[in-house]
Amino acid sequence: MNPMPSIPQQVIEDACEWAIMHGVAFRQSDNTARHCPFSLAPMSIEREVFEHLLKVTPLITKLINNVSEDHDFLQSSLSDMAKADPFFGRLMELHQQAHGSADDCLNPARQPLLLMRTDFMDDRQHGAKVIEFNGIAAGMAPFGQRATEFHSFMQNQWPNVYNHWLEDPSATPAENQGLTQLAYGIANAARQVKADFNEQDKPVFLMVVQKNEDNVYDQHLLEVELQKQGIRTVRRTFEQLSCQLSSGDNQRLLLKDVGAVDVVYLRAGYQYSDYWAPELNESVCCHTLSQTRLFMEQHHVAMNATISQQLATSKTMQMLLTMMPASEYARWGLTLEEAELVKSVLADMKPITSEAIEWFNTQADKQEWVLKNQGEGGGHCVFGDDISEQLSQLKPEEYNAWALMQRLYPHERDVPTIAVRDTQQTLVTDLVSEVGLFTAYFKGKPVTELDGYAGYLIRSKPASENEGGIHSGKGILDSLVLID
Ligand code: ADP
Ligand code: MG
Repeated sequence: MNPMPSIPQQVIEDACEWAIMHGVAFRQSDNTARHCPFSLAPMSIEREVFEHLLKVTPLITKLINNVSEDHDFLQSSLSDMAKADPFFGRLMELHQQAHGSADDCLNPARQPLLLMRTDFMDDRQHGAKVIEFNGIAAGMAPFGQRATEFHSFMQNQWPNVYNHWLEDPSATPAENQGLTQLAYGIANAARQVKADFNEQDKPVFLMVVQKNEDNVYDQHLLEVELQKQGIRTVRRTFEQLSCQLSSGDNQRLLLKDVGAVDVVYLRAGYQYSDYWAPELNESVCCHTLSQTRLFMEQHHVAMNATISQQLATSKTMQMLLTMMPASEYARWGLTLEEAELVKSVLADMKPITSEAIEWFNTQADKQEWVLKNQGEGGGHCVFGDDISEQLSQLKPEEYNAWALMQRLYPHERDVPTIAVRDTQQTLVTDLVSEVGLFTAYFKGKPVTELDGYAGYLIRSKPASENEGGIHSGKGILDSLVLID
C-alpha cells in the first residue's frame, strides 16, 4: 500500500465515525474501540458469477449437513488425519463418545443448526472456487451487511468520492442481509426448540465466547438483532459454563440464573487454547472444557457448531470431497447434477505423502500451490518457496494433518482503491477479494427467508499479501456490486 492522501480528511473521518457508530469495530485491550479497516468503494463481480455461487452454496451446505450427520463416514474418513493432528484427535474422541454407540437412543439429543460461511476467490483462469468451509465460529455476517450499508451511505453522502473510486459506473449493489437473515435463522431455530417444550416465554440464545475476545462488536450486533427478533441473549466462556450447566426434564439444557437454553452458538472451540484451563490443574489437558461442550450436545438444544459439523468442515474433509467422483455424493442425497455443480467450484487438493513431496520438489510450479494444515483463524498457510522448506520439516506421522491446495489468483481490481485503517487512507493498486457466503440450515432444512442463503462478507487485500484476514491480517472490509 502506498500512502498517498487524496481524499479530504473530513470524508475519512466521517466514514470512520460511521463505522464506529454502527459497531464496525474491534475492541482494544484498554476497552476502547478501533474501527475495522475498510475500503471506500465496493468490488465488482459479474452478476452471472455471483448468481452461480448463490445457486451452488446452498447445495454445499446440504452436502456438508448430510456428511456431518454420517457418523460412520466421519470416523472412517478422518481417522488418519486425527492421528496426525492432536486437536482433531481430541475432537474425534469427543465425536466417538457422542456417536460411538450402535443404539440410536443413545445418540446425543442436540438439534444441528448449521451456520456456515463458504469462502471463495474468483480465479482469473479457473473461475470462482472455494477457499474453505467455515462451520464453527463463522462470524462477520453482521460486518458484511454493515459494509454494504456503509457503501450505500458513501454513495448518498459523498457521491463524488464514491463514484470516482467505483470501478464501473453501471454496477449495482448486491443486496446483503447477512445480519438480519442469520439472526432470522437462529431465532427460527430457537422458537422451534421452545415449541418442542410447549413453553411460551422468550427463547434463550447462548453465545459461547473466548475469554479475551476482541471481535466483540460483530458478536454484539448479532445479539442486538436477535433481541429485536424476540430472543433473550446471554454470553459465557467454556470455563464459566463448566460449572453453570445442568439437565432439566426431557434433556432440557439449563443455565444457572437464566433457565432453559434453546440455542447454543459457539464463537469459541476451534483451537486448543479455547479448552485450556490452567486453574483446573488437569491431568489430561483440556478434558473438562471439552466435556462441557459434549455435555451441551447431550441436550435437546439447537447447536452450532456440533462436533460433527466441525469435522465435516475441516480442510481434510474438503480435500476428500474434492478428490471423490461427483457420483459418490449420492450417498448424501445430492443428484448427479447437484453434485457436479458443487464440484464446479472445488479447487484441486492433494494429500501429503513422500511421493507428493518428491513431486512437489522436482516437478511442481511452486507458485501454483498453497500448503495448509487443519488450523483455523489465519496464519496456517504456507506459500511459494516456503512450501518445500515446510515439507522438509514434517515428520511422516504429521503428513495427514496437511494438504496441498491449488493456489487461486483472483482478478485484481482495475482501478485503485482507498483503504482506510486507523483513520488513515492508503492507495491500493492491486486489490483482490475473498467472497464469503453465509447459509443457515436447521435439522437439515434451509432456515432463512432466502432459501438458506444469509448474505455475504467481502474481505479484500493487496494481491501481494498472502492472507487477508480483516481481524488478523492485512484485509479490509468490503462489499459487492454486480456488473452485467
Ligand atoms: P483459515 O482457516 O486460517 O481462514 P484459509 O484456508 O481461509 O484458512 O486460508 C487463510 C487465507 O490464506 C485465505 O483467506 C486466503 O487469503 C489465503 N489462501 C488460502 N488458500 C488459498 C488458495 N488456495 N489460494 C490463494 N490464497 C489462499
Ligand atoms: Mg479462512
